Amino acid sequence: MDKTDAIVIGAGVVGLAIARSLAMAGLSVVILEKEASFGTGISSRSSEVIHAGLHYPAASLKERLCCAGKQELYAYCESRKVPHHRIGKLTIAREANELARLDAIYNHALRAGADDGLLWMDGEQARALEPALDCTAALLSPSSGIVDSHALMLSLLGEAEDHGAMLARGTPVTHISRSGDLWRVECGETEIGSSILVNAAGLDAQAVAGSIEGFDPALIPPLHLAKGSYFTVSGKVPFSRLIYPLPITGGLGVHLTLDMGGQARFGPDVEWSETRDYTVDPTRRDDFAQAAQRFWPDLDPERLTPAYAGIRPNIGGPDAAQMADFRIDGPDTHGLPGLVCLFGIDSPGLTSSLAIGDYVTSLLL
Ligand SMILES: Cc1cc2nc3c(=O)[nH]c(=O)nc-3n(C[C@H](O)[C@H](O)[C@H](O)COP(=O)(O)OP(=O)(O)OC[C@H]3O[C@@H](n4cnc5c(N)ncnc54)[C@H](O)[C@@H]3O)c2cc1C
Repeated sequence: MDKTDAIVIGAGVVGLAIARSLAMAGLSVVILEKEASFGTGISSRSSEVIHAGLHYPAASLKERLCCAGKQELYAYCESRKVPHHRIGKLTIAREANELARLDAIYNHALRAGADDGLLWMDGEQARALEPALDCTAALLSPSSGIVDSHALMLSLLGEAEDHGAMLARGTPVTHISRSGDLWRVECGETEIGSSILVNAAGLDAQAVAGSIEGFDPALIPPLHLAKGSYFTVSGKVPFSRLIYPLPITGGLGVHLTLDMGGQARFGPDVEWSETRDYTVDPTRRDDFAQAAQRFWPDLDPERLTPAYAGIRPNIGGPDAAQMADFRIDGPDTHGLPGLVCLFGIDSPGLTSSLAIGDYVTSLLL
């Protein structure tokens, strides 16, 4: 059996950030990825937004790791020339009866110190920035931005490899057992051993945890698939910032994002699903148009085209009273040495990735 110091299961943005962090701490690292390439899972289907950290429950891992991760990510992207843009975001109250919720977000974000430049604006002030916007009030978050997530993953992998990490593609983990001080990780016919094991398998994290001998099944949270579809907007849009409505259960609401190429898209909505179906139903166009017209009344629905969908690995479900937090369970939680399992790494997982890498390394070393 081949041996290494650490094995990371999953080469999405989170697994790659963890592998980089462990490799930079001096460990030999092998990343096991079931697909033929890295970054084809949840990480390939996001909004690519660098979140400021306005919306997460107080003192949650999401709030902490998003705020820290955002700072780290901007510094990382600047130094490694990863395409990104701090374009800012407006979260809007469309009607007067939404003002109290916007105010609650404002006060919550101020208390959390999520964005130094956070600014409350009335409708007129917001329209001075974005003339096509219809709203009663808005919160300007200058530290929100966008990033080319694939370029980020390529950079993280390159840096992990520079520190000796190896990526094994097309290598699905099928069973995990423990012998002596080692985790024995089976990938079909081959087996590899390590004292450190990280389960960063995204939508398959529960299945991977279930394949670990000795892992208490009661500690595996339920997986709720929260599908989010996107529609692109043809032609140029009259906005230069991200525009968000107030959050909804399971997501942040159908918002307008721009990618690094300037392409605008609306999404993601929330559709609770039983299957991993990534098709975008074209008949949802009217729902998207209505959601978008709440803040952009002049939008012609004909300009919307079905684009792509992603699936959030939600662990709270549709009836959760508040947004479910990340679960990053180390030996203190499950009692198994050298093991960290990550569950429910939905948004803001991309923003938080570097901070998650640091956090997992701190749990293990
Ligand atoms: C619709 C949507 C929009 C989002 N928008 C944003 C956003 O704007 N900003 C933000 O910060 N976050 C956003 N997120 C969240 C962010 O995309 C995720 O938190 C992040 O991509 C999760 O990365 P990951 O590495 O945990 O998972 P993944 O990218 O899914 O990586 C897990 C990897 O594990 C592999 N794997 C699974 N099982 C096995 C196995 N048995 N053996 C080997 N490999 C295995 C998979 O193939 C996959 O490559 C969004 C998410 C969604 C769904």
